[in-house]
Amino acid sequence: MIVLGIETSCDETGVALHCSERGLLAQALHSQIAMHQRYGGVVPELASRDHIRRVLPLARQVLDEAGLGLSDLNAVAYTAGPGLAGALLVGAGVGASLAWALGVPAIGVHHLEGHLLSPLLAVDPPAFPFVALLVSGGHTQLMDVQGVGRYELLGDTLDDAAGEAFDKSAKLLGLGYPGGPAIAKLAESGRPGRYELPRPMLRSGDLDFSFSGLKTAVLTLVRRELDEGAGSGNPETRDPRQVRADIAAEVQAAITDVLVAKSVKALQHAGRETLVVAGGVSANRRLRERLAAEQERRRFRVHFPELALCSDNGAMIAFAGALRLAALKERGELAGLKPPEGFRVRPRWPLDELDAA
Ligand code: ATP
Ligand code: MG
Ligand code: FE
Repeated sequence: MIVLGIETSCDETGVALHCSERGLLAQALHSQIAMHQRYGGVVPELASRDHIRRVLPLARQVLDEAGLGLSDLNAVAYTAGPGLAGALLVGAGVGASLAWALGVPAIGVHHLEGHLLSPLLAVDPPAFPFVALLVSGGHTQLMDVQGVGRYELLGDTLDDAAGEAFDKSAKLLGLGYPGGPAIAKLAESGRPGRYELPRPMLRSGDLDFSFSGLKTAVLTLVRRELDEGAGSGNPETRDPRQVRADIAAEVQAAITDVLVAKSVKALQHAGRETLVVAGGVSANRRLRERLAAEQERRRFRVHFPELALCSDNGAMIAFAGALRLAALKERGELAGLKPPEGFRVRPRWPLDELDAA
């Protein structure tokens, strides 16, 4: 079965082709980062308009790359939520129309299910059940995962997401958007521990997170150490570049320390031996290294998506759609699936409201 996947929930247009026998056949991505950069964040209306421009040429590109035509498609999967309403409508509209025109089924995929299942695209995929740490621009969640669509929420952020904490701290440090990669890069020349930032909720006794206090602490630190007048009268005037690098290193350490500690705790709580990490922040090298070190000490196995699949992409949507369609096929329900006569998006859509596949 060949599935075309379309992702347009935010600021990346992603399109990919997945084949149930041969795996990922082709993928293409257009990032709008450069377009939104000067506004310091994503401008929803600009995002929707750009998706309209990109999605069909990208679909053409993946078909050409795979040496396939539209008539080879067996289904279309598109991101139905959560995300920006206008941006979602583009992918959903194009995906459902294409499926209708081709007379094949369309399936609306949950964006976070796409992230969560993306490590299963690896050569050595994890097996169910496992605990998943979902760390992206809009979410920070721990889930107990028993199968496709069988997700139990173990912990959530009470305010900002981990990616958001990276992004907001980066802004305070005068770094560009998106902040995660910028902080990670600057942190390479910094020393964690040179400044002290809080590890929010580290000992809260539950599996929840909170990152908004960290942002305030970073603001205070930046004002004290970097803003005009800082260091005046100090005989040992410090190099502001080093100060910024040291703050970046501590921000990264603070966020990743909490993520690692709570993930370990979630594994113990759920009695699982496999941890799957997904979402944009799963690209973070310090997070990967810290979890790899923990798995040695505590005897669990950690899995990440390949780097190119951490942030938003079409491959994870094609794959999640393919897994759900495969489950329908197994139950003999695939043949009853009609081409869509409409479509619906859900800008807000809790992951644990999904039905099992
Ligand atoms: P959601 O999936 O919750 O709807 P999103 O799609 O915007 O949100 P993703 O694309 O999964 O989020 O991830 C983007 C986030 O990942 C941004 O906040 C970005 O700063 C962060 N990020 C990307 N690379 C890194 C990195 N190397 N280190 C830390 N954070 C990173
Ligand atoms: Mg993005
Ligand atoms: Fe995402």
